[in-house]
Amino acid sequence: MDTQDLLHAFGLDAGTLQAGGLPVRSPIDGAILADLRPHGADDARRMIDRAHQAFLAWRQVPAPRRGELVRLLGEELRAHKQALGRLVTLEAGKIAAEGEGEVQEMIDICDFAVGLSRQLHGLTIASERPGHRMMETWHPLGVVGVISAFNFPVAVWSWNAALALVCGDPVVWKPSEKTPLTALACQALFRRALARFGDAPDGLLQVLVGAREPGEVLVDDPRVALVSATGSTRMGREVGPRVARRFGRCLLELGGNNALIVAPSADLDMAARAILFGAIGTAGQRCTTTRRLIVHASVADALLARLKAAYASAPVGDPRDPGTLVGPLIDQAAYDAMRAALDQARAQGGTVTGGERLLADRHPDAWYVRPALAEMPGQTDVVRHETFAPILYVLRYRDFDEALALHNDVPQGLSSAIFTTDLREAEAFLGATGSDCGIANVNIGTSGAEIGGAFGGEKETGGGRESGSDAWRAYMRRATNTINYSRELPLAQGIRFG
Ligand code: NAD
Repeated sequence: MDTQDLLHAFGLDAGTLQAGGLPVRSPIDGAILADLRPHGADDARRMIDRAHQAFLAWRQVPAPRRGELVRLLGEELRAHKQALGRLVTLEAGKIAAEGEGEVQEMIDICDFAVGLSRQLHGLTIASERPGHRMMETWHPLGVVGVISAFNFPVAVWSWNAALALVCGDPVVWKPSEKTPLTALACQALFRRALARFGDAPDGLLQVLVGAREPGEVLVDDPRVALVSATGSTRMGREVGPRVARRFGRCLLELGGNNALIVAPSADLDMAARAILFGAIGTAGQRCTTTRRLIVHASVADALLARLKAAYASAPVGDPRDPGTLVGPLIDQAAYDAMRAALDQARAQGGTVTGGERLLADRHPDAWYVRPALAEMPGQTDVVRHETFAPILYVLRYRDFDEALALHNDVPQGLSSAIFTTDLREAEAFLGATGSDCGIANVNIGTSGAEIGGAFGGEKETGGGRESGSDAWRAYMRRATNTINYSRELPLAQGIRFG
């Protein structure tokens, strides 16, 4: 199936694909896949109107019935896993296994949300007053605005949408301007699920195509009860205060600077494999990419020798080829940022291996690179900054406390890992004085989280949690109810009044 057939298979017709104004390029070769009409502020307001109307009806539908819609969405995703995965590959440049893996994550969150639709539970709480009962109930919140990044063009939407829909909330989705086609494909799959579902209100899912302008309408409109925004810390710094100004709710999933500690007792085979997947997988363009390796001096040379060999031979190229492990960077800006970071690393005393541009003759409009290792004399400025490219900074340590201090001494706090077989170190890393990240792993790398746990990070990563565990609570409002079934009216705290 060629690209146009693939797009047509998702119901995207020539009119939509060639309306003009927002060219969509494939990072594989720079080819223009489509030229969409971007939405403006008025379109965004109209969508919010429709979503709000949908909310008034959808919140009255019993949650398990809402779950049925998400179950049907999961079925559509299963049936179209390969096709949607291929579109992710075309538009975001992920290798085929990762494109399909992203769709699998969507299927998993749908399954999770279907179960959840029968478990949106509150507590019953002991009342201090006789003949009284206290409880909390959870109600649908309102319209959820989802702003997503290019590197997880569809999974991040599904983490939000599957939960929002079972919680009773319609979604207006503003995908990255670099990856709107996969979003339109998801909308088409959602429509198929809706048709099978039957009686859902219009406007449960709408896609806003464009850059930040329509996104800003979501951010500022008080009818958008929750803005769930995934992207750079720069974006979060703009979005967070704007939503706060209108006392809206915000769920921020921002940049990471994830480290992996390798202790002297580590299984080096496992560590090397985890580092390779974490640091060069998705061409270093995951929020959970391993960006810093903090390795004990006694094992550093052995580990680095392996990594250098693996880096030199890792197949870089067209992500559609089955043998490829490292696809392209998303665009030239990403390449320029990588080159600038490597220049800074050298200027700050680092020794860089790799990092050069590849395949420029064959693909002058695409940006392939050899992943880079940068051995640093310390945690300099460039190491503390997230550069969204495959650069792994290597720092050596001598004692565990020093490793922990280095680990936590960055502004971001998303994902972290330690490779050790020393129980004391493992537990210390997971304890209150250990890793300060939202995700902390032992003998597992920093990237590739399962949907069952809450996903998100601390500090400049924004503090949001989405996906599993009790992340659903962000999509609902909590009411505390006290019921008096006695014939008296005692006041709380024993107060006598009149
Ligand atoms: P980006 O910040 O450039 O864009 C993200 C989204 O925000 C896009 O849809 C963009 O149009 C929109 N946007 C930007 N400024 C806006 C504004 N002022 N108002 C409203 N919308 C605005 O990020 P990107 O380059 O697409 O993605 C890479 C970044 O995303 C990295 O920093 C990465 O770590 C982060 N990320 C984080 C997570 C996470 O879960 N923590 C997941 C994926 C990506």
